[in-house]
Amino acid sequence: MSTIVPASLDIRGIRLLNLAMDEALAAIDAALAAGQPTRISFVNADCVNIAAVNAAYREALATTDWVFIDGIGMRIAGRIMHQPVRDNVNGTDLFPRLCQSLEQQGKRLFLYGAQPGVAAAAAGWALARFPALQIAGTLHGYQPAGAEAETIDAIRASRADVVLVALGAPAQETWIARNLEKTGATVAIGVGGLFDYYSGRIPRAPLWMRRLGLEWLFRLIQEPRRLWRRYVVGNAVFLSRIGIDWLRARIKGSRPDKLVPRRTS
Ligand code: UDP
Repeated sequence: MSTIVPASLDIRGIRLLNLAMDEALAAIDAALAAGQPTRISFVNADCVNIAAVNAAYREALATTDWVFIDGIGMRIAGRIMHQPVRDNVNGTDLFPRLCQSLEQQGKRLFLYGAQPGVAAAAAGWALARFPALQIAGTLHGYQPAGAEAETIDAIRASRADVVLVALGAPAQETWIARNLEKTGATVAIGVGGLFDYYSGRIPRAPLWMRRLGLEWLFRLIQEPRRLWRRYVVGNAVFLSRIGIDWLRARIKGSRPDKLVPRRTS
């Protein structure tokens, strides 16, 4: 039996590319080969909540070249809105495969963001597995106010092809929107807490929890005081917003999936 899977989704006004992980990686390779400046973000349920109240983030996402669909919340939203999600394309799973691909292509990677020492430790993780990977540089994400020009100069001087920006949403998306071209890099990707995981600063959920879509629960248990609002309140707010959109679509008498269909078997 075949299902119609849209090539892109619209969840709460955010246009998301409905790609499988392999396709996302191939698209990044193609952008690098063509030297095509490309801004990439991952959007999960928490990001949708931030976008609902932050106009600068909405604007940055609207001009982001590729927004990938991250997490179980988005999968549930897609199902409710009759827009099936193909894959969970998140930065944490993409990172090792991206490193491998950059190593093979001889492209240079810069890691910008997270607490002092964390980006360098994540680079160390990557080099231990991909020894020929070219790390153009690392820089922590707590630079003094007004130091943006110095940060851009450092990335430009490093001749990076790909910059991973780990400042959290929405700061990383607005940073990339302002600065990708100035850095001289081809691809910039907002990656949230990715360096925290690969540096070992924060443990990642075991595979069985990730497979069940429970990574958020694992993170909540690790840092309940910081994250309870994001996950406990946030998930409920997210689902009620999706529920309202579903109701609106029902009342209008049409499904919201007016986007280009893709047929898969
Ligand atoms: N961060 C930063 N500079 C800041 C604020 C945050 O470098 O001014 C980093 C923070 O250290 C963390 C990342 O941004 O590594 C965001 O982490 P969070 O857990 O919010 O990301 P998520 O993966 O949930 O988007």
